[in-house]
Amino acid sequence: MKLFTHHEFDNHEQVVFCHDKASGLKAIIAIHNTHRGPALGGCRMYPYASEAEALNDVLRLSRGMTYKSAIANLPLGGGKSVIIGDPRRDKTPALMRAMGLAVERLGGRYIVAEDSGTHVADMQLIGEVTNHVSGIAEKCDAEGNCRNGDPSPMTARGTFVGIQAAVRHRLGRDSLQGLRVAIQGVGNVGHHLAKHLHDAGAQIWVSDINREAVQHMVNELGAVAVANEEIYDQDVDVFAPCAMGAILNDETIPRLRARIVAGAANNQLAEKRHGSILTEKGILYAPDYVINAGGVIDVCYERNATDPQQIVRQVDAIGETLSEIFNRAEQQHRPTDELADQLAEERFA
Ligand code: NAD
Repeated sequence: MKLFTHHEFDNHEQVVFCHDKASGLKAIIAIHNTHRGPALGGCRMYPYASEAEALNDVLRLSRGMTYKSAIANLPLGGGKSVIIGDPRRDKTPALMRAMGLAVERLGGRYIVAEDSGTHVADMQLIGEVTNHVSGIAEKCDAEGNCRNGDPSPMTARGTFVGIQAAVRHRLGRDSLQGLRVAIQGVGNVGHHLAKHLHDAGAQIWVSDINREAVQHMVNELGAVAVANEEIYDQDVDVFAPCAMGAILNDETIPRLRARIVAGAANNQLAEKRHGSILTEKGILYAPDYVINAGGVIDVCYERNATDPQQIVRQVDAIGETLSEIFNRAEQQHRPTDELADQLAEERFA
């Protein structure tokens, strides 16, 4: 297996292989860059087919966190961790505590939070052995509305604000009344996003491999259910990917009728060149790590005990950042994802 010559290696500062015999922990922590502060990033638990696949994922995802935190102007670097295992079968309290000890040994250079396959309860177990964890504290606003440490509601809020900015830029309107939006995946983030859009007067089309999740949106919001494969073909204004990555590719882009792609999913472009293809087609793309930064903003400020209103203001600023990227991209005739990368690199160099 290649390390320093690995195709996803991008001058990562530190990559740590963690093992605990008693609990069966096999994990990798990657710290990409700490120029702006400690490397914060989620812990993904997944039944990787090979150790090489796990390394690939952690190198790529940790780099992405550097860009995400820099563009959101957070005092954080980029890192990520992966646990090799099936979260439904292999996850135990002992395993999560062992992961916590691995994080503790890094002395605060890496701060862990939830990601796919891990939840608030897992972070609480990690929190028994290290303070370098976030996404665990309950947050209450001035009206006494409380929520747990799950960052998904803030990710959805940021995505909603990002859609507003994209609609303003591309469609020249402030109101979302009657806007047609197709959401792919109505899980933690997607269902919160659907509610925001519905409250703003938008019409919603939804798809999800989980039929119950779709039915819930149909009953609650009057959304239109769409078969999974047909979500790309809908006659809508906005396509909002909120499930998996690599869904913007050679097969799907020609089918899109939406003039805007703006959703929370990570790594939406199958390859870098797909950003240019979207631009050529006149589709405005909200770069994924910019629009979905609400979650990392939430877990960042949770640690600094900032008041919840400040978190909301910071999340809402995602709209301004996107507007700046859209304007610069238009002026320079360049893809929005390229502009985002440039802006982020200026901030963490
Ligand atoms: P989730 O697992 O709660 O929801 C994803 C939903 O997508 C599920 O309901 C799942 O059934 C559905 N899905 C999976 N494959 C699908 C397919 N082929 N077609 C349609 N639906 C499909 O995850 P989440 O926390 O809501 O995250 C959604 C996306 O946003 C992920 O890409 C995640 O990496 C990204 N993201 C999440 C956060 C957060 O705060 N949760 C932050 C940043 C980015």
